[in-house]
Amino acid sequence: MDELSCKDCRYFLPVDVFRGMCKLSKEKISHDDPVCTNLEKLAKCKFCINYTAEKDYLGKCMGTILAFPDMTASKCADFQWGIQN
Ligand code: SF4
Repeated sequence: MDELSCKDCRYFLPVDVFRGMCKLSKEKISHDDPVCTNLEKLAKCKFCINYTAEKDYLGKCMGTILAFPDMTASKCADFQWGIQN
């Protein structure tokens, strides 16, 4: 199970593939920076009970549909918080 990082937080604003910004502190941060105490997890496939990891960056939703762990799920009607996969 991967450590959580800022890219998993709803306050993370990606700028490009390397950099981003924290919407709370307004600081420049990177996607993989360690989280702080203000962390609020963003709905993502890897946090969903319907997601099963198969490889590092690949898995299945409900055992059938190809899905990626870091895919945001804030608009997914089937999303339900589970343990991180
Ligand atoms: S609130 Fe904390 S965990 Fe979230 S993006 Fe900012 S620094 Fe990262």
